[in-house]
Amino acid sequence: MSEFKAKIISIVEYFIHYMVFLLVVTGIHEYFHLVTLRMLGGDGYIKLTWYGGACVPTVLPEKGLWLFYLSGGAFTALVLFLLSWLFENEIEERCAVLPFILNQAVYSILEATLITRLPRGEYLKIAMLVGAMTHSIGILIGFLTLLEYMLGTEVLFLKSARTIKRKIRG
Ligand SMILES: [Zn+2]
Repeated sequence: MSEFKAKIISIVEYFIHYMVFLLVVTGIHEYFHLVTLRMLGGDGYIKLTWYGGACVPTVLPEKGLWLFYLSGGAFTALVLFLLSWLFENEIEERCAVLPFILNQAVYSILEATLITRLPRGEYLKIAMLVGAMTHSIGILIGFLTLLEYMLGTEVLFLKSARTIKRKIRG
């Protein structure tokens, strides 16, 4: 395979992975909310909304409501991280999943701390702003990392990723 063709395939793979994560991430997020809600003794259902979906509680848990709000983003970020980082997945997939991990991790903290404290409209405004910011930062880092990989250089992100990994592995 020519080098040029390999680079095109890398970019196509990146976009396919990105689209797949985009399609499944809301479902996973709301599913974790629902499972956590039921484990805490509450109940509810998942409905589709204009921004994706929402887990609507019908019975609130007596304790640990914050965990219900935290669970969607936190568990989604954790599962995506475990699937792509700990297993030796392709670099294209890791770069594509990065915006979702970053976004879900930050969003979970926002959801756990602000959703019950702010009026609905105000919360949605902040959530969207933070969501767009973390996602864009993730896309930028992911795409630059892919670029480094395709150009065969290790300058910034690939280099630091390898350094961190080496430290974790000891
Ligand atoms: Zn949520």
